Amino acid sequence: MRNPDLAYLAERWEPLNEYRFKGSARPWREPINRWLPDTDETVPTSSGAAPMHLSTFALIEAIRAAVRDWTVQAGRTPERTIPELLSGLDGLVPVHPASGSWGREVAGWAADTAHRVRDHLGEVGDGQRLKAICPWCWYQSMVIRCLDARGQVEPFVRCESGVCAPSEHEVSTWWEGLPCWPVGDWQWLAGRLDRVFDDAA
Ligand SMILES: [Zn+2]
Repeated sequence: MRNPDLAYLAERWEPLNEYRFKGSARPWREPINRWLPDTDETVPTSSGAAPMHLSTFALIEAIRAAVRDWTVQAGRTPERTIPELLSGLDGLVPVHPASGSWGREVAGWAADTAHRVRDHLGEVGDGQRLKAICPWCWYQSMVIRCLDARGQVEPFVRCESGVCAPSEHEVSTWWEGLPCWPVGDWQWLAGRLDRVFDDAA
């Protein structure tokens, strides 16, 4: 798939559905007789997983509804699995976001939703420092930040050394004077980070 956000959503569809059943622990007690005073027998005695994360369920249903809607709008049948439909949309969304407003809308929805899923699955740690040397300033100063740099909150890797100056074609977004790379650039960025070690070796 070409669009990294649609690809991520397709890849995470199964894990997200499984995550639904891993409810957070909550106190459990047998039905109590509310006419009795609180005793040892009426205080929670154990804790178990909640049967379902309702917020996960809501997110899954929102994705399902949106993906079907986009597909119907594209004049295609929505009677397929969600990963198949996401893959179908991927073929319709132009690689360049500037071409076509419908495609741009789908791409925007995918970016926003991918962020929500990442956030939900605990894959984005705001403020998490990467164990990596910045290929441009050579400091260990790359931090994941959730920023509203492009009209919506999304995760970026940001170099916070304060002296980092990648060239114009190596970074597209700046925030507070610091260079930022959105998720779509992370694969490319990972390649650059790998090469730091190759160069140093
Ligand atoms: Zn840097």
